[in-house]
Amino acid sequence: MLRVRLIMESRIRQFASDNYSGICPEVWAALEKANAGHVRSYGEDTWTERASDLIREVFEKDCDVFFVFNGTAANSLSLASLCQSYHSILCHQTAHLETDECGAPEFFSNGTKVLLLTGGEGKIDPAAITPMVKRRSDIHYPKPKVLSVTQATELGTVYKPEELGVLGQIAGALGLRFHMDGARFANAVASLGVRPREITWEAGVEVLCLGGTKNGAPVGDAVVFFNKNLALEFDYRCKQAGQLASKMRFLAAPWVGMLEGGAWLKRAAHANDMAALLQSKAEAIPGVRLLFPRQANSVFLELPPRVIQALHDRGWIFYTFIGEGGCRFMGTWDTQESDVEALLSDLRELMLGEGAAVALKG
Ligand SMILES: *Cc1c(COP(=O)(O)O)cnc(C)c1O
Repeated sequence: MLRVRLIMESRIRQFASDNYSGICPEVWAALEKANAGHVRSYGEDTWTERASDLIREVFEKDCDVFFVFNGTAANSLSLASLCQSYHSILCHQTAHLETDECGAPEFFSNGTKVLLLTGGEGKIDPAAITPMVKRRSDIHYPKPKVLSVTQATELGTVYKPEELGVLGQIAGALGLRFHMDGARFANAVASLGVRPREITWEAGVEVLCLGGTKNGAPVGDAVVFFNKNLALEFDYRCKQAGQLASKMRFLAAPWVGMLEGGAWLKRAAHANDMAALLQSKAEAIPGVRLLFPRQANSVFLELPPRVIQALHDRGWIFYTFIGEGGCRFMGTWDTQESDVEALLSDLRELMLGEGAAVALKG
């Protein structure tokens, strides 16, 4: 049984998550180069320097950059550095830091409370922020300190530059720090066709967790402080939390491979395109409903429970617990059109029966 499963998983590219995919060729090549000979450890090497410089170039901003192993560490350590334990962090109710980090932001900040905001399609409703902050001003309320947004969101939508500008302005007026979880930042940039600066520091974002893993790296996300004052002693925080890689070049080299020739955007755009293909063809199947506008590399579909089970039985892996229900299908850097067609073929057959599925495809 396990053997069958392993064969199936190695043959079919799946739609469960962009972290099911492997290492993209540009990153693999950089890692191979980084593997030659000896270099200094703990980030005092040229790969780390080069990767940090490339990030500064991409954002057209002198910023402080730190490389950590994953997104949970990036989020929780950066948030912890913005807060005292008696503060609170405001984020959308579907935010990864609330739903998928096992309380790490609270843990690393020694108990900072997370306050949940509402808003359609996974985006924070700007009108929800001030009431949450002003709800109380007394000493018994956890003092609001950070506004955190996710770009692209957990529901596969994307904030436009002007939407982020509004959030940044509100945060500034209320004395909140502005934090961005950019686990899929590349997908957002590719989708919007903007300069990275337009959806970060120009909109008031002070700290960005920049995702590398889902973009095509084996491991490793970056914490980017546009407000350099906030980076004070962040290196110690990383070290204490076990997030200072001794062979740092292997966390840094993927960024060099990804950023130097623009692979980060090319790969993200491809992931978005594959999701777009799936979306347009799935939507054409009677009975299939798109749950949220697809703006990045995830497609959320409402499917009958019978069909969900049957797709799983046929070996398709996808999540049904992310966001607000429904089924999530992710495109990633190595998703092929043939993968999308194979999934669609099963979906059509299960939704419509064999004859009608063939007719629809033709
Ligand atoms: C994947 C993801 C992260 C990081 O998760 P790790 O598993 O810790 O790497 C953070 N935020 C969002 C929105 C994500 O999708």
